[in-house]
Amino acid sequence: LVQLSMPLNFMGMIYREIKQALIDIDDMFRILHRNPEIADREGARALAVGPGVVRFEDVHFAYVPERPILRGISFTVPAGRTVAIVGPSGAGKSTLSRLLFRFYEPQSGRITIDGQDIAAVRQDSLRAAIGMVPQDTVLFNDTIGYNIRYGCWEAPDEEVREAARLAQIDRFVASLPEGYDTPVGERGLKLSGGEKQRVAIARTILKAPPILVLDEATSALDSFTEREIQDALDRVSRGRTTLVIAHRLSTVVEADEIIVLDKGLIAERGSHPALLARGGVYAAMWNRQREADAAREALKRAEASE
Ligand code: ADP
Ligand code: MG
Repeated sequence: LVQLSMPLNFMGMIYREIKQALIDIDDMFRILHRNPEIADREGARALAVGPGVVRFEDVHFAYVPERPILRGISFTVPAGRTVAIVGPSGAGKSTLSRLLFRFYEPQSGRITIDGQDIAAVRQDSLRAAIGMVPQDTVLFNDTIGYNIRYGCWEAPDEEVREAARLAQIDRFVASLPEGYDTPVGERGLKLSGGEKQRVAIARTILKAPPILVLDEATSALDSFTEREIQDALDRVSRGRTTLVIAHRLSTVVEADEIIVLDKGLIAERGSHPALLARGGVYAAMWNRQREADAAREALKRAEASE
């Protein structure tokens, strides 16, 4: 019996390991929106990142042929600068980030980093160069420390703590029963949207990639959390080539260029003051958001005084 139970235990252990791995892979697919059809080309070389100039050149893209999502998008994010993408929901903003990560490929046009077509370089090297803070962070079923360290396994504890501090998640972690060893995810502690996003920011700070893609938090966050997250994001993006997909226009005021995406085309582009002066789509969006913010504030004050 002893002889029999040993291998069974062992099998059980392997089974659990595999199951965990599958859960992780499943999470990875969800996180990465990964498309298994995209493979490295024969003899693809590693991306050689220099200053980190990102270019979209006349990019056309559709998930399904009958429904074009991007219809000729061209823009450049100069090295170390920030370009913001704004526009209505469904305009194709997140699609741009998925294409930059090469989860999908453009039907025509190309995307380059420092002059190299991203379709021609190794995917691992491409993804190592880009840090992504997605809109909907999915955490691994593991500890919070694991989730922050993900991909930077060799990082010393000290650096993990520093990244957590910069992402303003350190105090939250300190409040957990087992600190960095506290399990999170489906089988552990449930984190709020803002907490999960700050974990993703900490992970990105630790990774310190030359290129950043920030798909900002939605208005589901309260304004205090949002400000904290914004501070953390500002800190990560300083000096890095950054593509920020902005839901809140207040966060794009400082961007070097703002691109207004609508129905797969660039409707307007320019700096915040230039776009306001133009009095077009962006100016209308800005005014609408300001009014909505004012209304929300008034409502809050009214509730507080009741
Ligand atoms: P947003 O500007 O809100 O970030 P997205 O880039 O996420 O917009 O999506 C643009 C459009 O593409 C939307 O209409 C969305 O429904 C569609 N879309 C997104 N992902 C897929 C997919 N995997 N398959 C088919 N259509 C998709
Ligand atoms: Mg989106």
